[in-house]
Formats: sequence, structure tokens, C-alpha cells
Amino acid sequence: MEQHNVEQKIQDFVARIEAKNPNEPEFLQAVKEVAATVIPFIVTKPEYSGKKLLERMTEAERIIIFRVPWVDDKGEIQVNRGFRIQMNSAIGPYKGGIRFHPTVNLSVLKFLAFEQVFKNSLTTLPMGGGKGGADFDPNGKSDNEIMRFCQAYMTELCKHIGPETDVPAGDIGVGAREIGYLFGQYKKIRNEFTGVLTGKGLAYGGSLIRPEATGYGVVYFCEEMLKTKGEEIKGKTATVSGFGNVAWGVVKKFTELGGKVLTISGPDGYIYDEDGISGEKIDYLLELRASGNNRAEDYAKKFPSAKFVAGKRPWEVKCDIAFPCATQNELHLEDAQALVNNGVMCVTEAANMPSTLDAINHFLDNKVLFSPGKASNAGGVATSGLEMTQNSIRLNWTSEEVDARLKEIMRGIHNSCRFYGVEEDGYVNYVKGANIAGFVKVAEAMLAQGVV
Ligand code: GLU
Repeated sequence: MEQHNVEQKIQDFVARIEAKNPNEPEFLQAVKEVAATVIPFIVTKPEYSGKKLLERMTEAERIIIFRVPWVDDKGEIQVNRGFRIQMNSAIGPYKGGIRFHPTVNLSVLKFLAFEQVFKNSLTTLPMGGGKGGADFDPNGKSDNEIMRFCQAYMTELCKHIGPETDVPAGDIGVGAREIGYLFGQYKKIRNEFTGVLTGKGLAYGGSLIRPEATGYGVVYFCEEMLKTKGEEIKGKTATVSGFGNVAWGVVKKFTELGGKVLTISGPDGYIYDEDGISGEKIDYLLELRASGNNRAEDYAKKFPSAKFVAGKRPWEVKCDIAFPCATQNELHLEDAQALVNNGVMCVTEAANMPSTLDAINHFLDNKVLFSPGKASNAGGVATSGLEMTQNSIRLNWTSEEVDARLKEIMRGIHNSCRFYGVEEDGYVNYVKGANIAGFVKVAEAMLAQGVV
């Protein structure tokens, strides 16, 4: 098919999705990125053409929206909105995290669920895609309030999930503590002890390395990308945004492999530490996180080598590698331009969809090694998959065993991205590679299972 006709096909498809899903900018952004790379592939494959595969994949199998009423410490009734998007179960039970954050809405969760389908497919493990959450702000809430909220959320959610149906996990605002409360409530209502959630504590079925897995996987993926240029992490500098679970894992592994992390950030600004963020500093990071503090400024107060830059993102700092680890759309075109002007070699996304579409295109146009979150952050959900396996066989693996499997999975994802993403001049377009590789497995399963 001629280039012009393919472009038209992409535009028509995006226009249809936009008309069906008005006021959902994040969902549309995720769909646009996939359509631009997958439609040109579909038109070359008669077995996929005309089967409405992308049309089916952009329509959730099921969306559950529910009231979450709970009572705060003052005795006042609060009402939040809970969601679970069951996006695609062609290759396994729905699988994906739960996000508690005031920005949670249908568009954000649909984009996350849509990306999760591709991400989970890339891991090669049998997991479909889903995502859930609530517009609840855990910041400033007491432990009891968090527990009551989790219980209220699970009281409804437990009717729709199960170890063979839908297996949620953590995401922003949902860590080990919340998973514990959610699991307790599920078990109480359903009277079942199963691997219905992942990211569980070690005492009740969790997996070693799961807390570190997303960040470690990101760094393993980055290593693979560098290798294609004969480079390694040792001696490289990195800028990191965020300082939640993902940033923590990235900082830990990147430092262990001999790199130096120059920045981390919170919603209040970023901190620049020319001595590098390592050792006791990472521990302090953990302490801050555990106390529910997400202000980067407090880190700068503790370590004199650190400089706090209020109200800005860290992308203006010169570095070899950038790891956006915070949240969607945190890296804009002007940030991409600053990174490229400063000679960035590699951008490894660790958050979900942290770069805007024009920022991504700027990286690709400048032939930067760039990986989309759905490929490079898949280590988190992959290790959730390994937790499910351990729960099913009722055994626990050692951290060495889980880590080795994680590394192998990340290498496999990198190879798949290269296979489908390599261009005529040898440049690997990891966005294209991840989308097509993720699509193929789901498409094969959907075709085999008929129109359902
Ligand atoms: N929320 C994580 C993600 O974005 C992990 C999901 C999971 O472990 O199910 O992939």
C-alpha cells in the first residue's frame, strides 16, 4: 500500500477512536503512538488485515466504575470514585496495577490499561492487560484512613477479580502497605487465600526482588541498549526524575553498576547532587518515601552536596542517560531539546508514557537510543508474573533466581524490540519495535479465539 494511503488509514483510525472516546487525551495519545507504528505493519500482513484487531484492542472488554465511600479520622464521610479497566484477556488473566492519585480518571486508566496489554505481551508471560485505581489522595492520610480506604475499595473490587480472572498489583500511591490491606479484605470477603494480588509482603506469598524489579529491569534494558553501541553503564552519568519505588530501583542498580545519578525530583522541584546519589543517600530516600513525604527539598537539606532547584524538572542537567521515573507527560518537547542539545546518549523511560509524542519524535529524529516505558519498565509486571508462578506452585524462589529470570526477560524484550524496530540505516526504533512485538502475540491469540 502506498505511503499516502497508509497515512490516511492511520488518520481515519485515530479520528474514529477520538470520536468514540471524547475528552480522553491520555488514552488518545497512547492509541496514536501505537496506531502510527502498528497500522503500517498490519497493511503488509494479509493475515492481520481487515480483522479489526486494533479496533477490538482499543475497546476495553469491560470497565467497572464504582463508589468508594469511607469514613475519615474526623468521622466525616468521604466519597471517591473507583475503577477497574479489564482491557484484554487474549493471552491471560487481566493483569496490571492499581493507582491511587487525585489525577486518576477514566482517560488515565484507559491509557495505562491499553499500554499494559502490549507491555505484558512483551514479557512473554501469560498475562492479559488491565489497570485500576481511584481518585484518592493518600498524601497526608493516616495509616487507619489508608486501611479503611483500601478496605472500601476492595469491598467492591473483590466481586470482579480472582487469580484466574484479574490480578491487580501496585502503581503510584499503592505499595506494600496498601497491597496488604487490599489482600486482607479480599481474603475476608471471599474466604480464599490465593495469589489474587501481586506485590504482596514476603510473609504471605510475595516474591523476592518484586520491590526492586521495575527499576532493576529498566537499568538492565538500558544496559542492553548501550551494548548495541559498544557502551556500558560504568562511568556514565544519569538524570532521574521522581523518587518513588521506580526511581529508587533505578538509582540502586545504576549506582551498583558503576554509574553516577545526578538528580532526583519531587513535585516541588529537583535536586542536583554532583557527588552522586548513592549509599546512605538511597536509604534516606527510602525513609522519606516510607513517611509519605514526596518533597525533594528535604533531601537537599540533609546532604550539603545537593542543590535544590525549585519548580523545575531535571532535564536541563547535562547527562549521558535520562530516566524519567515519575509519571505520564513529565518530559516535553523543550525538555527533549535540552537533553539532545546537551548530548544525551540514551533515554530509558521508567514511568508509563512519561514523554509527550513530540518529545519522542525529537529523540527518534536525532537517533537517540530511546525506549518506551512499555518495553523498559516491563520488569515490574514481569516479576509480578513470576510471583504468580511461585504462588501457583506454592514455592518461593531465591532472589538470585528471580533476578536471573528478570534479566533474561528484559534481554528477551530488548531482542524483540530490535527484531521489529530495526530500520534501514541500522537505527533501532524501540517504539515501533515494542508496539509491533507486543501486538503480534495478542493478535495471534485473538485470531485463534474468534470474534469474542
Ligand atoms: N503498575 C506496574 C506497571 O505499570 C506493575 C503492574 C503489575 O505488577 O501488575 O506495569
